Amino acid sequence: MSIIKLHDKYFKSYISSKQIDEAIQKLVDQTTEDLKDVDTPLFIGILNGSFMFVADFIRKYNSDCEVSFVKLASYEGTNSTGKIKQLVGVNENLEGRTVVILEDIIDTGNTLQEIYQIFEDKKVKQLKIATLFFKPDVFKKALPIDYIGIPIPDKFIVGYGLDYDGIGRNLEEIYQLTTEPKMKNIVLFGPPGAGKGTQAEMLRDKYQLKHISTGEVFRFNIKNETELGKLAKSYMDDGNLVPDEVTINMLKEEVDKNSDANGFIFDGFPRTESQAKALDQFLEEKGERINGMVALEVSEDLLVERLLERGKTSGRSDDQDESKIRNRFVEYNTKTAILKDYYQAQNKYFGANGVGSIPEITERLSQIFDKL
Ligand code: AMP
Repeated sequence: MSIIKLHDKYFKSYISSKQIDEAIQKLVDQTTEDLKDVDTPLFIGILNGSFMFVADFIRKYNSDCEVSFVKLASYEGTNSTGKIKQLVGVNENLEGRTVVILEDIIDTGNTLQEIYQIFEDKKVKQLKIATLFFKPDVFKKALPIDYIGIPIPDKFIVGYGLDYDGIGRNLEEIYQLTTEPKMKNIVLFGPPGAGKGTQAEMLRDKYQLKHISTGEVFRFNIKNETELGKLAKSYMDDGNLVPDEVTINMLKEEVDKNSDANGFIFDGFPRTESQAKALDQFLEEKGERINGMVALEVSEDLLVERLLERGKTSGRSDDQDESKIRNRFVEYNTKTAILKDYYQAQNKYFGANGVGSIPEITERLSQIFDKL
């Protein structure tokens, strides 16, 4: 789940693989039932968009059938041109056959009309139309559609075979057009003591971003003895993570308080996969996204030393006891470190050597920030 860029436009996730799969299963069930007395129906996919749909449909269709493709109109840009550009015809003899057209999407119905016209003189026994997606609001034709997978509003969609100006067909899910993100949002990542807080302050000033440290917000609440503080205290004192629900709600509030920010540096958040997912979804609802995770890489032994040293002046009880520090690393290694994979899977992970002087490290991080 995320915002992606194709050519000059941004798209956000819209219909999941699971929803697509369920819709196809429904179409297969309906057609199988309706065609149970038909001897070998012929399924015809409309290229290019339908290739994934046809492949998945046919895989699920368990009775004998034939498969063919025709090529008709395609989209150019985000608007249907409404013009049929070419036809790579069917070679099969269609006389007396039951033909089921498999379309990826029907919107205005122009392509559908062409299909009906082409099949008019083919003497087929019956012609049925199945479409994975359908836009009822823009469909203008009085033509029958026999099977509809998922009706959608009039939004431009891409993925699962559908393209935007040639690209995006390989996406496993369906994305829809969205506005260009305005913020620069960065997750500053690294184990306890890596220097996230120090660097976040440098980078906040340099890039005019809002710095949110969940640890700081918790400490502020503990100091002021708020309800949230009381809740978080026992977890923090032992070096355990505060429960996700509490942390996520708090983070959302902090973001919403600063809705006019140029962007955020998230420091100490997300720390679990469910926090990362919640953050993605939350930002996506605002048409925003995480630009990247920037990680400070430092070895654990060096960090324990640093934290004990910091504990002498920071006043943080969780910095003063080696067993609590070790526990924070256990939490980090079991729940947080996997987030590297989470962001790497989205091509958003950028590591930097976290050993060196403060300005040296700021410089390393800045080089990454500049590119995001
Ligand atoms: P930090 O200042 O980032 O080292 O955080 C100090 C402590 O605050 C952690 O050991 C946790 O107990 C709690 N905490 C901070 N951020 C989170 C988070 N994202 N999820 C859960 N607990 C957190």
